[in-house]
Amino acid sequence: MSEIRALPAYGPLPRERYGVFLAVRRGIPLGVAAMAFLAAAFHLEGRGWWMLAGVAGIAVAWPTFLRGEAYRRSRTAIMRWDGLWARAIRPLARWLGQEDAWILSFCGWHNHRVREAFMHRKARRALILLPHCIQLARCKAGILDDLQACYDCGKCPVGDYMNAAIASRWEGRITNRSHKAYREAREYRPDLIVAVSCTDRLLKGLIKLPETPSYVIPLTLPHGMCVDTDFSVPHLMAAMETLVQPLAPPAKVQPLVREA
Ligand code: SF4
Repeated sequence: MSEIRALPAYGPLPRERYGVFLAVRRGIPLGVAAMAFLAAAFHLEGRGWWMLAGVAGIAVAWPTFLRGEAYRRSRTAIMRWDGLWARAIRPLARWLGQEDAWILSFCGWHNHRVREAFMHRKARRALILLPHCIQLARCKAGILDDLQACYDCGKCPVGDYMNAAIASRWEGRITNRSHKAYREAREYRPDLIVAVSCTDRLLKGLIKLPETPSYVIPLTLPHGMCVDTDFSVPHLMAAMETLVQPLAPPAKVQPLVREA
């Protein structure tokens, strides 16, 4: 038996990188609008149509300017629009060898907006979603059924996560299928999801659950897809600290059982 050990140190949330996605998502419709208004000034016969195209371009770019509460209220529509752009440009990004960078830029843009939206009114009912592939492949601890089955051997991030989750009373799920994670999220009805996954699943998750604000953290894949993946537990801790209202500490923290 041992007490919950000291948690890893964490700093402020890292800055998001979203310049590429924003340049495309906002830049293209605003560019089209500018050209349409220019055409309206010189092509008098088709002026009405050009003006209409210009206004449409501004309308398409408009959701990218919504912030804070306005963003929270319109989140579902914003995610649907942005998801369309992310998927439409993805084949081009893949062709250019920049698919991951494109998806991470999309994720970074939404992380940035979620941070703005929750900076001054933190989430009260947050849910953490983690993939099962963070567990060492040869480890037999049954963490899918009970997180505390982990022996905290330090060979994968589950031990650190478990200690942080118990100490801070986080609500979290580790699942081995995306559809189970979506179902858990719909059943729990959180006001914020903090999700860890590979870039492909992060994009799908953001599009599948447009109604729930989600802060996403990408996995690192030192051994390839779905095997012994890794993520930064300090990053997760910083996200929870920044975006989520802390719960009162439990009256008595239970020691973990490690007898294997
Ligand atoms: S920390 Fe160790 S015991 Fe816990 S899940 Fe990872 S490998 Fe298994």
